[in-house]
Amino acid sequence: MDVLGLTGGTPDAVPDGELICSAKGCREQAAWGLLWNNPKLHTPQRRKVWLACDEHREHLEQFLGARSFWKQTVPVAELERVS
Ligand SMILES: [Zn+2]
Repeated sequence: MDVLGLTGGTPDAVPDGELICSAKGCREQAAWGLLWNNPKLHTPQRRKVWLACDEHREHLEQFLGARSFWKQTVPVAELERVS
């Protein structure tokens, strides 16, 4: 089911409860989910998820983008939760 309206890609579910920014040392609540794929490690439809606060979203997008791993950024509210 394509709940996110994504074109080709299934994000990993994120933990239920509070979501914290993935940036090193950051303890802020995440506002964004960065969807990415490393074709050497993941099947083409797989989307790994990094969480980011407003402050670190751009930094993490650039990190992934520089490696051609970044696919899409979505609000955390749109991410599927582990139940
Ligand atoms: Zn952060």
